[in-house]
Amino acid sequence: MKPALAVAMPGETIAGLRQASGYVCRNRNNTEEGKISEHAFGNAVDIAGFTLKSGKTIDIRPAERDSTLDGAFQRAITEAACLYFTTVLDPGSDAAHENHLHLDVKERRGGYRYCW
Ligand SMILES: [Zn+2]
Repeated sequence: MKPALAVAMPGETIAGLRQASGYVCRNRNNTEEGKISEHAFGNAVDIAGFTLKSGKTIDIRPAERDSTLDGAFQRAITEAACLYFTTVLDPGSDAAHENHLHLDVKERRGGYRYCW
């Protein structure tokens, strides 16, 4: 399935994703008690990185203050993900998401989106 909106590096094409997690029966952030993760409902995926057509790889990492093209790519793709997913957690959200993007489709009242 082709997305309606694509984010890419100038002169590049995204050729692959490195998935870190998908369906896993667990609580949020792997805690013993608390809320059930959207991963346990099969509604979430974690993306650890991207492979570009040139073979270049981009790993998800803290990039809030990264002024390189890779940093700009990561921030752009994080923002674009909120158009399609209702929850987007990136390395800036908390320590549990330091090396991946968490994307899920949890339904919230009023179509509210939680994107950090
Ligand atoms: Zn996740």
